Amino acid sequence: MNYVRYRIDGEEKYGLVEGDLVRELTGNFLLPDSSLNGQSSKLEAVQLLLPVQPSKVVCVGLNYYQHAQEMNLELPEEPVLFLKPPTSVLAPYGEISLPPASKQVDYEAELAIVIGKTLRRVSEVEAVAGIFGYTCANDVTARDLQKKDGQWTRAKSFDTFCPLGPWVTTDLEPGNLDISLTVNGSIKQFSNTGDFITPVPQLISYISQVMTLLPGDIVLTGTPAGIGPLQDGDEVVVHIDQIGSLVNYARSI
Ligand code: ZN
Repeated sequence: MNYVRYRIDGEEKYGLVEGDLVRELTGNFLLPDSSLNGQSSKLEAVQLLLPVQPSKVVCVGLNYYQHAQEMNLELPEEPVLFLKPPTSVLAPYGEISLPPASKQVDYEAELAIVIGKTLRRVSEVEAVAGIFGYTCANDVTARDLQKKDGQWTRAKSFDTFCPLGPWVTTDLEPGNLDISLTVNGSIKQFSNTGDFITPVPQLISYISQVMTLLPGDIVLTGTPAGIGPLQDGDEVVVHIDQIGSLVNYARSI
């Protein structure tokens, strides 16, 4: 099932996408008592909003074997974690701001995990039970600043540097999904989540040993080979099998 947050007639709502319809829910789909209220709208008539509003976005630095080879990096002993602030998130069809401070802003297609329960020091089995669903993400990165600063906070944290969406897909097996990214229709990244160095259950369990994950939090699972820069006016699309397409536009500010 595909869960959305959307705006119609100036009101923000939660819904369930079925074909070309959005069926309205009584409240946030992350809450257990959320249910259909009988109303619906045409999908094309609604404005898609960020599907969730995370308290944090936790990311893993290197998680595809191929990308590790491309970057000439040795495989880490344990997953290398970093954070993107909750203010970096961007809705589907929103504009990625290319800031004057950077001369190279790169795209990174990633599978995003949406947390459904409070998870603290959980096992892999508990981790899987605590996942609500999955969505597409773009871990936009100011590559020059990442190298210059010696750590990644500034490079990963500009407003709009974390597009998410278009919706949260549930009942999905995350271990074998094709993932791709196009810029202006030309394919730049193509891989499969079967190439993960740390699979989803292990990754969530590992993160939860460090920090408590809350409902609505996002975990980005790393990017495959083929990263490259965005230019003013580019249309960038992340597509993941069984989820859908996340479309955004790059804009110099
Ligand atoms: Zn990344």
